[in-house]
This record gives sequence, structure tokens and C-alpha cells, in this order.
Amino acid sequence: MRMKTRLVHGGITGDPHTGAVTVPVYLTSTYKQEGVGHHKGYEYSRTGNPTRAALEALIADLEGGVRGFAFASGMAAFSTVMMLFNQGDHVVVGDDVYGGTYRVLTKVFARLGLDATFVDTRDLDAVRAAIRPSTKAVVIETPSNPLLKVTDIAAVARLCREHGLLLIVDNTFMTPYWQNPLALGADIVVHSATKYLGGHSDVVAGLVVVKDPELGERLHFLQNSVGGVLGPHDAYLLIRGIRTLGLRMEAHEANAAAVARFLAERGDIRAVYYPGLSTHPGHDVAKRQARGFGGMISFDVGDGARAERVVRRVRLFTLAESLGAVESLISIPARMTHASIPPERRAELGITDGLIRISVGVEDVADLIEDLEQALAGA
Ligand SMILES: *Cc1c(COP(=O)(O)O)cnc(C)c1O
Repeated sequence: MRMKTRLVHGGITGDPHTGAVTVPVYLTSTYKQEGVGHHKGYEYSRTGNPTRAALEALIADLEGGVRGFAFASGMAAFSTVMMLFNQGDHVVVGDDVYGGTYRVLTKVFARLGLDATFVDTRDLDAVRAAIRPSTKAVVIETPSNPLLKVTDIAAVARLCREHGLLLIVDNTFMTPYWQNPLALGADIVVHSATKYLGGHSDVVAGLVVVKDPELGERLHFLQNSVGGVLGPHDAYLLIRGIRTLGLRMEAHEANAAAVARFLAERGDIRAVYYPGLSTHPGHDVAKRQARGFGGMISFDVGDGARAERVVRRVRLFTLAESLGAVESLISIPARMTHASIPPERRAELGITDGLIRISVGVEDVADLIEDLEQALAGA
């Protein structure tokens, strides 16, 4: 089955008992046993719930893995994966991963004795140099946020194999519709399903997929032990969102390409960051490892005051954190999502005060461009 068909028919569909074409929302915490230990595969809903199981089968299918896991947020998903490691272990992590990923590693897992070194994962020598005898994994996010830096997944996967390390990829920005890290050699894929997979700004959720059954057993043990599971209502909403992922990603992509061209042609913008532009430094790698470039664009309007005027003047772009939903969103990373990063560090990373990030929605792109045009002209 091809991807668009798998989105609709993948995982577990319908209900064999009634013929319902959608998976029922199983609002139950426990399950009747016919005798001690004799049950229909479910004992308690933290351990397993049929609605969540349908979602977990669907994401495993889409990412080409053997087992999927659904969590109450992207951070719960990532944190549970980190619990694979022990005190004294070390991980190498991209230097511009999601702020919450940076925070949980430096403020929570560091306290428990899991060390992390942050490097630019586009630079294989930097990744190699950061590997220690205690290193157990490399964590990458590609394209990254907010500068859309592209890391070569297959190249990092080869390095990981040479050193016996797990490769963990946050695939939130691309989704399985455009990019399948497991096929490129990664071991674990993590998603904030709050973004494109949900797609409608109405659910917070996280997903994990692995391609090795033994690793799957360990993760299920952790999911059940730590307990940050996704509830059945939210699992249902995610399944519903994922069924239209292909339609939405195609629309995000077409709109983003047009908006990026519009921005790149203007004379009053210092830089446009979009992997789909041939001038983007990661364009060739992105083209090789993914089937699309996604719907996220960042651009630098020169200074913080102008950025502030632009976000205040737009009418169709909602000023908000988050991304990946049907409606277009706009934000100033230096003052919002990345405000907790010290200014010197932001400057090193290239996150300037004039940088604006947009999540291009599925509206009519002519309206989006007109809106940006008037906001930029007036600012
Ligand atoms: C939002 C996000 C997360 C965290 O996910 P939550 O669902 O908000 O917990 C992790 N990684 C990336 C790339 C994100 O955008």
C-alpha cells in the first residue's frame, strides 16, 4: 500500500462487533477476566487500551516500524525513551533541538546522572568528537527549529552503527508522510503528535516507533511502568487527524513553497530559511532523505522592533507558539519559544531578534501572501 492509502487503511480500522467504520473510543480503565489471567488481551488501560492500540498500530505502520507507543505529550514520549538509559550514560544531542528537549535533558535527566553534549549534528566530525566510552545514543531533529537546519540522517546512522549507538530522530516537522527515519537507519522515531499528526490544534500527544522487537519490549515496559500514556479520547482524535495527513501535508507544502518564494523575492528581508529553496544550505540533503520540505518557514526582517510590528499587523496568521495545524501561526522565536536561551547562545545559533517563524496553514495561499504583503509593507 502506498502512503496515502496507508494513512486511511493503516493500523486497526473499524469495529468487528458492530461494523462501525471508525475505531470506538474505549472509555474503560479495566477489563473483565473470565478466570484469573484469562482475558481478551487487555487487563488495565495504562498497560493497553484498544483505541490507543489502534493508534499505536497506525503510527508503527506509517513509520515502517514494528511497534508504536502513544503518550500524553511529545515530552512524555521523549522522556520515556530517555529512561532506556542509566546513571552515568551519555547522549549526543543536536544543539538546536526543541527547547523542551533541551530543558528536560539539562534540568531533569542531568540531575539523575544522564549526561548530554549538544553539537551541530550537520557536522559529522563534531558528532564523532563528542562520542565517549559512556555514550549510548545520538538524538537529532531534522529539519530543526527555528532555522530549519537539515541533518543527514543516513550519515549519522552509519556513525551510530560504527560506535554501537542508538539513533533517535524527532520527526515532528516532517511527519512519516515526508520522511521515514527508520528506513534511513534510525532506531527510534519520536513525534510531538500535537503538531502535524493531530493537525487541528486540539490535542497534545506524543508517539514513539521502534523497528527492533526487543527494543519494543523494553519501551512497552517503560510506557507501562512510568505511565505517561495517551487517553482514549485523544487517541481517537489523533487517528482522525492522521487519516487526512496526506491531504494536509500536500497543502502545507504547496502553500509554504509559494510563501517562501514570495519572501525570497522581496528586497526588505534579510534571510529566508526554508529547505525547499535551492539556496538553503540543507536543500540537497533534504531532497535526498525526504519526499517534501514541510510547511515551516523562518525569515529575518532585520530587527526586533520590525518583527514585532509585522506580527501585530498580520490578520490571518495567529500569534501563537506551536505549529502544524490547519490555521497559519506566526511567532518570534527569540521572545517566545526560544526566550529561555541566553542571548549570546541565541546569537551563536543564529536566532536573531528579527527572526519570525511561520507555520503555513492550509488556507488559500493568495490570502496568506496578501496578508504578509500588507504586514511587511506597513512595518
Ligand atoms: C512541540 C515539540 C515537542 C514537544 O511536544 P509536546 O507535544 O509539546 O510535548 C518536541 N519536539 C518538537 C520538534 C516539537 O515541535
